[in-house]
Amino acid sequence: MLSPGRAACALALAAGAVLAQPAPPVAAASAVPQARAASAVAAVPAAAPDPAAAALNLPYSAAVAARFPPPAAHYGVAVLAPGAQVFTANADLAAQVAAVVASVASAPAGTHIQRLVPGRSQDGTAIEALHFSRTIAPGTGTGTGTGTGTGTGTGSARRPAVLLIGQQHGDEPAGAEALLVIARALASGDLAPLLARIDVTVLPRANPDGAERQRRVSANGIDINRDHLLLRTPEAQAVAALVRSHRPVVVVDAHEHTVVGRYLEKFNAVQRYDLLLQYAMTANLPESLGRASEAWFRQPIIAALAADGLSTEWYYTNPTAPGDLRLAMGGVQPDTGRNVNGLRNAVSLLLESRGVGIGHLHLARRVHSQVLALRTVLQQAAAHADELLALQDRADAEVAAAACGGRAVVQAQGTPTRRELLMLDPVTGADKPVDVAWESALALRVLTERARPCGYWLAADQGAAVASLAALGLRVQRFAEATPLQAEAWIETARGEVRRPDVRGTVADGLRTLLQLVVSLRAEPLQAPAGSFYLPLNQPLANLAIAALEPDTQNSYVANRLIDRLDAVRRVMVVPAARLAPVQLEMQTPVLKPVPTPVPTPVPALGG
Ligand SMILES: [Zn+2]
Repeated sequence: MLSPGRAACALALAAGAVLAQPAPPVAAASAVPQARAASAVAAVPAAAPDPAAAALNLPYSAAVAARFPPPAAHYGVAVLAPGAQVFTANADLAAQVAAVVASVASAPAGTHIQRLVPGRSQDGTAIEALHFSRTIAPGTGTGTGTGTGTGTGTGSARRPAVLLIGQQHGDEPAGAEALLVIARALASGDLAPLLARIDVTVLPRANPDGAERQRRVSANGIDINRDHLLLRTPEAQAVAALVRSHRPVVVVDAHEHTVVGRYLEKFNAVQRYDLLLQYAMTANLPESLGRASEAWFRQPIIAALAADGLSTEWYYTNPTAPGDLRLAMGGVQPDTGRNVNGLRNAVSLLLESRGVGIGHLHLARRVHSQVLALRTVLQQAAAHADELLALQDRADAEVAAAACGGRAVVQAQGTPTRRELLMLDPVTGADKPVDVAWESALALRVLTERARPCGYWLAADQGAAVASLAALGLRVQRFAEATPLQAEAWIETARGEVRRPDVRGTVADGLRTLLQLVVSLRAEPLQAPAGSFYLPLNQPLANLAIAALEPDTQNSYVANRLIDRLDAVRRVMVVPAARLAPVQLEMQTPVLKPVPTPVPTPVPALGG
């Protein structure tokens, strides 16, 4: 079992494996107060109406609200002013981005600020990003900044890139507001000196349509933060485009977590922690990334927030099923931005402020907790700039060298354990210890593993899937001539159809279902025709190819019908002796509209 500092692997709640089961046993239920009926969300407990809270339109008692005073810090932002009731609208966000670009006039010499539009939302709104960099003076390398790390004055001509992403979920506004604060501080404020050691890309609002509607998902009903391997939404494609362009060594994904709702119903409690934290935890991840995430980022973030009186905990979520009293750390599937960017060999961090379901309440404090964490990330990235570049280089080499040898994990999941959390009494606001059943993502249990192939063959008619693989950053080639391959085929032995499972229950997926396949492997020599594709695994992002192409997982391109048949892909077990030509990226995956399908019936069990 891995210690918390070694987030090597992950907990994949395999299709229907754990959280689709009935509620946990009585022992868990008796450890907490009786769950309330699943009805009203964010209501003041009926047994103890609080006139003061009602008068202020609070979602809980005034005593709870008093636990979250506004921060001393002021950012001079209208939406954070006392009494403000609105969030930054999309048009205003675009105006603020433009203003940051214009502020380059007052930035330190050599600063470059670019507005990037890596894509448009499904409603046609520009997805706005800012790229900050500074000209590297000849001979000075990376060593002229404020960082305290190694290499002062002697660094390389490369600077590590940091990518900050906000508001993938439209009803989680604090990330976008915090990233606008950070952008101004980078342009001409007190974070500007960090640009001597790092480049920074800021994407404040990845889901403008969801923000407009104040809802979690994209316009076509897909949860963007489960779409980073499949890339069916233009919003996830936009994030992928930024990652391809800048190859960040650190990625931060800023979200908010649910405060009342299911916690009040299941635990008669209100969430207490200001900021929940996690980093990439998924199968096949180089262990060095987890160690760096813990030592260089999570621990300093915890310290920075504690110094300001703000509380932190591991990120956890609460299944949507009423009566299911288990809490789960963020999932281990290679579908979230956190995990997919980890498999790109970046330090990939998740920040979750205390904000879903409480509207504008405590917004200044929520934004402040995000700003403190983001500032810490940027300062730490600058301090460890050279080490981060070396870390990613080593992880790239380690993954590429693993091709054709050893094992690759296909399916994994986390470990059931228990944890004591602090919540709040919804009436008195007092701390309320709650002992919970806890799905840990820190220790990975392998469900399925296979010999790691040398690469994958794809049929010539799989251009759409190849385009998505290329958009992930993978290098794909084409056979210039017919070539014999030593290959393995997957043989289907059973299939079912399910809604997309997740630690939260199921994922909003535009009403689609996915195929749940049970397969066996069979050696099957293949004559690869000229024009068919080869995806070699001796490349840094190879683990993304395994996640996409082994078919019997919930994230695979076959399960999600991006590849329409099992025999369109083969595992290639010996490096082909052939002329191969590179494939140029042609990302033309259509934006999918919701397709209603009948309520599916799960298969009874998934074999290994
Ligand atoms: Zn979220």
